[in-house]
Amino acid sequence: MQKTPKKDKEVINVIIQEYQKNDLPWYIGYSGGKDSSSMLKLVFNALKRIEYFHKPITVLYCDTGVENPIVTTYVYETFEKLKKECKQLNIPLLFTILKPKLEDRFFVKVIGRGYPTPTNIFRWCTDKLRINPVKELIDKDVKAVILLGVRSSESEQRDRTISKHKTDNEYYLKQSGSSSNIIFSPIINHALEDVWLTLRYNELPKSIDFNQIRMIYKDAESECPVYRESKGSSCGNSRFGCWTCTVVRKDKSMGNMIENGYSELKELFEFRNWIAEFRDNIKYRCSYRRNGAKGLGPITLEGRKIILDKLLKTEQLSGLNLIPQEEINRIYELWEIDEINVNYQEKRLTTTCIKHG
Ligand code: SF4
Repeated sequence: MQKTPKKDKEVINVIIQEYQKNDLPWYIGYSGGKDSSSMLKLVFNALKRIEYFHKPITVLYCDTGVENPIVTTYVYETFEKLKKECKQLNIPLLFTILKPKLEDRFFVKVIGRGYPTPTNIFRWCTDKLRINPVKELIDKDVKAVILLGVRSSESEQRDRTISKHKTDNEYYLKQSGSSSNIIFSPIINHALEDVWLTLRYNELPKSIDFNQIRMIYKDAESECPVYRESKGSSCGNSRFGCWTCTVVRKDKSMGNMIENGYSELKELFEFRNWIAEFRDNIKYRCSYRRNGAKGLGPITLEGRKIILDKLLKTEQLSGLNLIPQEEINRIYELWEIDEINVNYQEKRLTTTCIKHG
């Protein structure tokens, strides 16, 4: 018989107490990673002990369209299993999968508009792909509680940010800016080993399987944020992030997964490494920005066509669906717009090197 760890029992009691405290709807940010999975396990076990449910609790997953395909498949399957398990056990969890607006999708931005793929100093993606879809949904409520799998011992940087956003209640964090939403992090005091113990020793829900998560990880990585609990949260180099992520120079995470047997990611890994170099090739960058100022501008139309060709080739070789038709159609429309736009200038720069911080 498996035993719930002592720390988890305490947290389950906290969750029950917080749930019963008011009528504010709850949203659970879920990425499929170990932290959000352990939090979801604890919420599930808390709800199991509650008799009267008086407000909605929605589990949110944001599918950016460029998620690591191994993880996305795992999350979609887990959602389906969880839905059935919740129904059987009478747990009133709702599940929602969000997607970024067509205009904000990764390939529409890069191939359609010529955005260089993200770097540390130009990380245009996190808000557009992950934060905004969640924010738009949550902001429909006047006020809500957002449950995040944030832990203070996760990293020194995370610890510093948490200290800045602390409230009188150790489980709650203040939201940056003026948002009226409250952030509740039940696992804030969980160390890494506690998270694995939570996943291992809480039998329910069975749909969140310790061994399966352990297989995906093999070694510990961070999760890309599903809601901004602070400014500047980083999400590069995470297997629970985008396969196209070029924020980090070297994607160790995907490299490790390939070594561990996920050979279907090989073509994606090569594309990702190729585009990280291609982005910096001055030959395919405009010498004017879109606002007319002289300086390093968007990827040229010729460059964007090369990227689309390479992506479609990668899709063919990997056998994975990497870009939906609606994105391709939008990309063609955006190319036509640039072709006739008098303010769009492609004149080339003459130097050959771009440096990123
Ligand atoms: S994983 Fe990388 S590309 Fe995706 S949103 Fe995060 S920083 Fe941007």
